[in-house]
Amino acid sequence: MHRLWLFDIDGTLVDTGGAGLTALTEASIACFGDAGPELDLAGSTDLGIIRNFLDHFGREEDPDFVEWFFSTYLERLEWNLAHGGFPGKVLPGAVALLERLEQDPDIHVGLLTGNIAGGAAAKMRHFGLDRHFPFGGYGCDFADRNKLGPVAVARATAHTGRTFEPEEILVVGDTPKDIACAKALGAPCIAVATGRFTIEELREHAPYRVIASLKEL
Ligand SMILES: [Mg+2]
Repeated sequence: MHRLWLFDIDGTLVDTGGAGLTALTEASIACFGDAGPELDLAGSTDLGIIRNFLDHFGREEDPDFVEWFFSTYLERLEWNLAHGGFPGKVLPGAVALLERLEQDPDIHVGLLTGNIAGGAAAKMRHFGLDRHFPFGGYGCDFADRNKLGPVAVARATAHTGRTFEPEEILVVGDTPKDIACAKALGAPCIAVATGRFTIEELREHAPYRVIASLKEL
């Protein structure tokens, strides 16, 4: 039985309709004076993304600068979500699945996402999903997504007082990087084709299961 479900956010639970990408570009313009490189966001961590920016602009990593960048990004993200007119939505089946999982006292649900914790919270709040996710592993914990699984599991244990074996965990995500992250944790991954990748493309990475949308769960 899968007692710990760890969800990716973008392309899995919600689509921000460009509010997130635009906020990153706006933060780059504010902090670097330029929109920066073209970004491959799918499955990336925010810490990985800022390192791409720093490389692109030939700057050393400075914690104060990174903090300034992320606080600018968060401000822009919250504004874009609330007022930007981006066509964001909760993806099909997400609400029904989360509500069903919530009813089972033996099942715990958290996030496993490349978003920084503040960005994850802003997105989940905006779409009314925040109460489902009391803990998670985030893109401010490590730049390498494959290191986020153990962080999420440790926080699940701290929150619930229970331990979780890898086979009791289920990772749900929409990119090959989510599948790799689940494998690094030794846990099965359900890959959902509501992001940028098709069922066939996801299947090439051999997850436990591939589905068209969360409605299938
Ligand atoms: Mg995703």
